Amino acid sequence: MSGMHDSSDRPGFAQAGAILTIDLGAVRENFRRLSARLPSASCAAVVKADGYGLGAAEIAAALGEEGCSVFFVAHAAEGIALRRAIGPQPEIFVLNGLHAGAEDVCAANSLTAAANSVEQLAAWRAAAARAGRTLPVAVQIDSGMSRLGMSRAEVARVAADPASFDGLDLRLVLSHLACAEEAGTAANQDQRTAFDSLRAFLPPAPASLSNSSGIFLGDAYHYDMVRPGAALYGVNPMPGRANPMEQAVRLQARIIQTRHLDAGATVGYGHTFHAAGKMEVATIALGYADGWPRRAATAAWADDTKLPMVGRVSMDSIVIDISALPAGQLKPGDLVDLIGPYQTVDDLAASAGTIGYEILTGLGRRFHRRYQ
Ligand SMILES: *Cc1c(COP(=O)(O)O)cnc(C)c1O
Repeated sequence: MSGMHDSSDRPGFAQAGAILTIDLGAVRENFRRLSARLPSASCAAVVKADGYGLGAAEIAAALGEEGCSVFFVAHAAEGIALRRAIGPQPEIFVLNGLHAGAEDVCAANSLTAAANSVEQLAAWRAAAARAGRTLPVAVQIDSGMSRLGMSRAEVARVAADPASFDGLDLRLVLSHLACAEEAGTAANQDQRTAFDSLRAFLPPAPASLSNSSGIFLGDAYHYDMVRPGAALYGVNPMPGRANPMEQAVRLQARIIQTRHLDAGATVGYGHTFHAAGKMEVATIALGYADGWPRRAATAAWADDTKLPMVGRVSMDSIVIDISALPAGQLKPGDLVDLIGPYQTVDDLAASAGTIGYEILTGLGRRFHRRYQ
């Protein structure tokens, strides 16, 4: 197909049971939409977990063309892989901080570690001394989530030691909001207050507090840099309100068999579905091993025709009711839509009792992927 390329380490189109199409144009559009909401802050991109399952290298390259020059990953190993993919120029922050022993490899790959504790800051300082050059560092502070970052007492210890940043270039002070998608909650304001009071102890440096949802809390939450992930990939940053982002993924599964059922026929594990009358069903080549939640017995779509899933989701396949279509219209080899215009990532997440983040990052390794 023109304008698309296939990533080589995954199944080819012909062999794959399901096809994941990633719309890099939509990701770029989402970056522009978020950037347009920022009067003065810059927009970075969070590409941890392989770009929320969509391909960190491809996403980072596309956003680089939009002028994005700062990326965040969770693990050092992700940072090393990303550095190889995108070259020496962009800044890469490692949110989960430094494991003891990972300092030198982080330095060698020009990763900017988040120091999440006094010990990590000291280890990074030692790595700078070993390397014989100044290393960039970020300080993450805990402003009320109790997940990662320095506590108030640790920030005070850092502030009390004049040698804390010897050999280090403090590039960013960051913290993370626990309730950013709940615009009304006082917790956001409390975290902002805590962030301001803690970063006042540190040397002047750019500050960053907001993820995707935080951007929509207003200018006061933007500081110098925002760190969206999910919204770039089309997940709604304001649950319960109209999604301001563009959908970036389409998931299609291949039909591998069709059959006629008579009244009383049973479908799938546990015989949870009994045909009430004559019906036509199709088996599609995707199951829970591909990240389709077993709880989400929803539907597939052929254009705008809804084809309900019947019976249980299997590991590698799902049965769908295709009776709504003229007999013989769908044949083995044809594709039906699972995620797309009629069923978004957020819709699927809601039907499975989870969030779009979990759906995206769980999308399987067996898909053929194409980038648009
Ligand atoms: C994952 C993460 C982000 C991005 O969050 P989204 O909700 O996906 O925008 C930003 N900052 C930190 C510290 C994170 O862990």
